[in-house]
Amino acid sequence: MSQAPKYKRILLKLSGEALMGDDSYGINRATIGRIVDEVKGVVDLGVQVAIVIGGGNIFRGVAPAAAGMDRATADYMGMLATVMNALALQDAMRHAGIVSRVQSALTIQQVAEPYVRGKAIRYLEENKVVIFGAGTGNPFFTTDTAAALRGMEMSADIVLKATKVDGVYTDDPKKNPDAVRYQTVTFDEAIGRNLKVMDATAFALCRDQKMNIAVFSIFKAGALKRVVLGEDEGTLVHC
Ligand code: UDP
Repeated sequence: MSQAPKYKRILLKLSGEALMGDDSYGINRATIGRIVDEVKGVVDLGVQVAIVIGGGNIFRGVAPAAAGMDRATADYMGMLATVMNALALQDAMRHAGIVSRVQSALTIQQVAEPYVRGKAIRYLEENKVVIFGAGTGNPFFTTDTAAALRGMEMSADIVLKATKVDGVYTDDPKKNPDAVRYQTVTFDEAIGRNLKVMDATAFALCRDQKMNIAVFSIFKAGALKRVVLGEDEGTLVHC
């Protein structure tokens, strides 16, 4: 088995919920440590890694907005939650010996660098992991959309969507034992079959810009590495 990565530069989307582990809220240190180990596995292959981190483990704007809170305000709170996760991730990476930089789409300079595209690309070229916080910096968007956007801005070879399930299935594998994982699926098939890959805005951006998406489980040991090596792991959504 060759250890040459198929992708040289990746944009990894981690949901905030991935950091919770079995907890119902917040950041679980052991879980974040396991995720960092997975990331280290690909950094050690020489792959350039950019990460967009979500915030759903701390705050998600939609629910409070539905309960009467101003939506934009709730979304700004959600974006700040992603910055907290970005800092936690950076801290865990430092413990694991990974050099990383946090860039925030909202300006909070005492806490994180502002997002500067050229600087982020430079960090990647220096093999530093770049963690993007605060999503797109705009309310009414999601971190999935930020992942698609930053993936394109970084000229990443692929967007990797880390989920709890190890790919895209014909049906919900938890409810239907006959559900089958797609090894590959085209964007058109995914739309036709109403498969949930990323939210609609993110999905449309990737399709329009011909940015492939790999869906895999961050909780399956070695899965991220296998995806990056181009092995049969997760689901590849392609043009
Ligand atoms: N958010 C936003 N604009 C963005 C990204 C995120 O307003 O560009 C807010 C939104 O309220 C969202 C929250 O931040 O609910 C957390 O992001 P997301 O739900 O995407 O996190 P995840 O589901 O990946 O944990």
